[in-house]
Amino acid sequence: MKFTYCKDCDDAFKKVTFEGQRCIYCGKENTISLSLSGSNYYIGYFLLVIGAAAFVILDGDPLQLPVIAISLIVGMIISIRSRMVLKNKAIEKGRVQAESEA
Ligand SMILES: [Zn+2]
Repeated sequence: MKFTYCKDCDDAFKKVTFEGQRCIYCGKENTISLSLSGSNYYIGYFLLVIGAAAFVILDGDPLQLPVIAISLIVGMIISIRSRMVLKNKAIEKGRVQAESEA
């Protein structure tokens, strides 16, 4: 997972390709690129995909619905939570790098 940390805003965001080094908040290029491992994030996504696929494959079988709903909800919670955790990690890492560069 690529993140960009902005020294001016003291904030981080998930890197969008083709956006270059520009901060999405202030538009300046005073940023640091960071790379973080986001396995939890992908696990969450995986559960979401499995849940959605199961829903389609099973054609909404009422007996399977609770299982599908749980995998969708858990997948969503994991991906949202890990996204927040990753963002905080990116901010911390960005601060450390910004200090070491200064
Ligand atoms: Zn900024």
